[in-house]
Amino acid sequence: MRKVNLNEKEALENILTNNVIESPAEAIELMMKYYIQKGLDRDDLEEEIFNFINSHEDVYSNYDWWSEFASKKINKAFSLIDNGTYNANLFTLDKVEVYKEEIETINCLETDELRNLAFIMLVYAKINTMKREFKIGRQIDEKGNLKDREYWISNLDTDCITAIFTEAGSKRLALEPRMKELVEIIKHDMIEPRCGKNNNLKLLYVKDEGEVAFTIKDFSDDTVIFNYLLYCYPNAYTKCEKCGKYFKKQKKNQMYCFSCGHTKQLTDRQLEAKQKEKTKQKAKPALLKGKGKRK
Ligand SMILES: [Zn+2]
Repeated sequence: MRKVNLNEKEALENILTNNVIESPAEAIELMMKYYIQKGLDRDDLEEEIFNFINSHEDVYSNYDWWSEFASKKINKAFSLIDNGTYNANLFTLDKVEVYKEEIETINCLETDELRNLAFIMLVYAKINTMKREFKIGRQIDEKGNLKDREYWISNLDTDCITAIFTEAGSKRLALEPRMKELVEIIKHDMIEPRCGKNNNLKLLYVKDEGEVAFTIKDFSDDTVIFNYLLYCYPNAYTKCEKCGKYFKKQKKNQMYCFSCGHTKQLTDRQLEAKQKEKTKQKAKPALLKGKGKRK
């Protein structure tokens, strides 16, 4: 899935060993976790983080802005450490469960495109909530009771909208979809928009629990939607036997996706041609032999 880090351990290793920074903001938080786990005190940690920003000028070109960002994060982390609520563990997502009730709500939408979008947004919102709870725990009210979980898609910028539309396999990307459009196309009783600085959307159709329809375990780009499609239309979609990609079947017993099927046809034809050539060559000497004998 795009625009969401599902494996912080992998991301941190990527920074430390390969020097690859996928998300500048998240990289700072991961490096903080790394140094806090190592037991660095506040001064040493600050020094290391500022060095980190300084030594990656290509990513953090505006040093002042990023060092201020880091200072805020460090302050927040150390106030949580003082409370005993800071979680320096690294987040990894192994599964997301989708409930039958959620699918029923999504399936009330009129078109394939809307249903696909609503499903992808549901998965994003569930992951956001899981990550938030992992980081700061379940939210509680003033009386100390557990608050109802909320499911948000936050900071809905153009990149994020593009990611949602791409994951949902939508072809409307060329129209440069905007958040308003997203809200309009999904029914209003399913989404509560908060249009302010951070274009946030609260999804009202996500449930805390229920009867599980299916569990998503593979989050690689563009595969998540097929969990939903295979559940709703089990005979229309399948996984390519060669490359493992999901695709919509054109024929009932189709085993390969378009490109693998195409390559396979070509190789089959080449093999066939080679085989023919071999038989021809084998046949020739026999013919000569026969001629010789006749003389
Ligand atoms: Zn294939």
